[in-house]
Amino acid sequence: MDPVRKYVIMGVQGSGKGTQAKLLAARYDLVHLSVGDIFRWHVQFHTKLGAQVKRVVATGELVGDDLVASVVQERLALHDWNYGFVVDGFPRNVAQAEFFLESYDIDGVINLLLPDDEVERRVLSRRLCSQCGLDYNLIAHRPHEEDRCDVCGGRLVLRSDDNPEALANRLRDYHAKTKPVIELFERKEFVVSIDATPAKDAIHNEIVRRLELPEHQPAAPTP
Ligand code: AMP
Repeated sequence: MDPVRKYVIMGVQGSGKGTQAKLLAARYDLVHLSVGDIFRWHVQFHTKLGAQVKRVVATGELVGDDLVASVVQERLALHDWNYGFVVDGFPRNVAQAEFFLESYDIDGVINLLLPDDEVERRVLSRRLCSQCGLDYNLIAHRPHEEDRCDVCGGRLVLRSDDNPEALANRLRDYHAKTKPVIELFERKEFVVSIDATPAKDAIHNEIVRRLELPEHQPAAPTP
């Protein structure tokens, strides 16, 4: 029986948290919990929660801790994470980290490092498929046809918070509120800090190596 693995992935906007969380989750059969993706889904499908968070998400500010805590709690309460999970975009401040550590023990924190000048270049070239949510980047991962998703043909759009004003808010919050979370984790948890500038596969391999994960993941047994 494989161990249950519980990870948090942290890093400034555009550092590739979502990409690396997805690669890790796919390889080790983990649930990928992205609070930002959950909020974007609610906004896109006009749910009550979507209406509550739409303005805050679009301006790049942080959604209130109680709402965020309930989203994380509800998602993890589904208990569909037999092999574990990787949490992305949470915790964003010390209060969220303390709430989280009361309920879950964490096996490792992945901290992706990217200089601020590279953040702007990456974030402003990011595009998202309006239908299937796939991520593109006009520098590193261009679609074959301009503004169209290679997989489903959906229209590529900018995230509502990928603009210079919202990015400035998000960077300010990151340095003021999220960095202290990394310092708190460094005192309590196993943190691996990883350079986020190389290509995504190289970063993934480095994460696997530093977390001492098995290189060859055996296929999950079929029932
Ligand atoms: P992300 O995709 O992680 O960049 O999140 C997009 C937006 O969702 C953020 O700019 C916030 O408005 C909101 N959000 C995501 N995660 C959190 C969190 N842990 N705490 C507060 N707001 C969050």
